[in-house]
Amino acid sequence: MCHYTSSGGQASKEIVIFTDSLQRDDWYRLRNQELTLEKDSNVTIVRVAHNDLAPVRWPPESLSEVFDWLKSADLAAHDSLARGILKNLTKDRQIALLDIANEGIIGFEINFQSSARTVLQHHAQRKTKHGGKKNGQKLRSVLPMLRAKHATSAILRLSVRSISRQEIQQRNRVAPLDLENKKILIIGCGTIGGFAAQLLAKVGAGRGSIGKLTLCDGDFLSPGNLSRHALPATYIGWNKSEALSEYLKRDALGRLNIHALPYRMEMKEEKIHGYDIVIDATGHAPTGKMLSHLMRSSSRRPPFLIHGYNDAYGMASVVMIDDGKACYGCTQQLTVLGESNKPPSPYRNSCGSVFTPYDASVSTITAALIQEAVLNTLNEKLPWTYAQHSTGKVVHHKRRKLAKYGGCSVCS
Ligand SMILES: [Zn+2]
Repeated sequence: MCHYTSSGGQASKEIVIFTDSLQRDDWYRLRNQELTLEKDSNVTIVRVAHNDLAPVRWPPESLSEVFDWLKSADLAAHDSLARGILKNLTKDRQIALLDIANEGIIGFEINFQSSARTVLQHHAQRKTKHGGKKNGQKLRSVLPMLRAKHATSAILRLSVRSISRQEIQQRNRVAPLDLENKKILIIGCGTIGGFAAQLLAKVGAGRGSIGKLTLCDGDFLSPGNLSRHALPATYIGWNKSEALSEYLKRDALGRLNIHALPYRMEMKEEKIHGYDIVIDATGHAPTGKMLSHLMRSSSRRPPFLIHGYNDAYGMASVVMIDDGKACYGCTQQLTVLGESNKPPSPYRNSCGSVFTPYDASVSTITAALIQEAVLNTLNEKLPWTYAQHSTGKVVHHKRRKLAKYGGCSVCS
């Protein structure tokens, strides 16, 4: 199919190799393509062990150079490629993919001269039909014809990019895909929750056979949100959790298991049952305390409750992980804002709504800290349960494992 390098850019040819039709349809949808099938299955895929040796000439410029290289790298792969090509001689054009161990995939489009291809086809079939010679012998007799300069009119190196989950995730971690199959709930889909959902979906949330990402918010996207929210203007008027769910699924490659709960969550024990990680992105202190309380009274408590919020009138980004020890209320032991640094009039009124103006970056940093906290829960030990990033004049507290606080109104 054709693809474009930018909105006004040139079209170039893209060859898509898929193993099931779902993959193909997904790719067409994401690339805005009509399903115009120029289907051909003339593809040979060969795994190459490639023990040592760089090729004599790289990249190879002819089919015989490819064969020369394979002969030195992996003889079995050499023979498989030859057999594959001979099997696919019904068209002048065919594709070979070499999956080289620890290196990746390289691909070639091989264009045969029509006459040479007919001769080759004849020889390859004849020997098979009569079965007179053994397979290896047959191959040796046809190979020189296949390697002959005049047989192929061109051999084009293809730029091959895999879109497998493994390939996409390999830049993230040594052990890839480990957030898959987790059940994650995000309460609050404002700036913090919205970006957190996006960042988590990128690293595997909502993937895997049992993984799911649930988003909860009763609020609607308004124009005033646009300067800091993850959602674009196309979703104005939408419920934030439904819009986010749609938005993330729309542009995802492969199935993303995201659910929206388009209402304000009732603070009941059963609402948080069955999740591995619950994220409180409401920025609402009473909700934070209520969740800490639910965690402690629940018989099937989620292993991790993560609170992400902007503290000190938007001068600090804070994330705390409640793993059953210190709770949200225990953060009271840390004074973040001194009396003298409190802003004189922190609130502004605009058509009845009350908000504190501060840079959008504070919330995106909080969302990033949530992503870090969630990935940390996959480690054997948590490196911290309290992290703070300070933007304004606040008391900065280093990352730490927060101790329980005797004066905590929730857990003490
Ligand atoms: Zn506490």
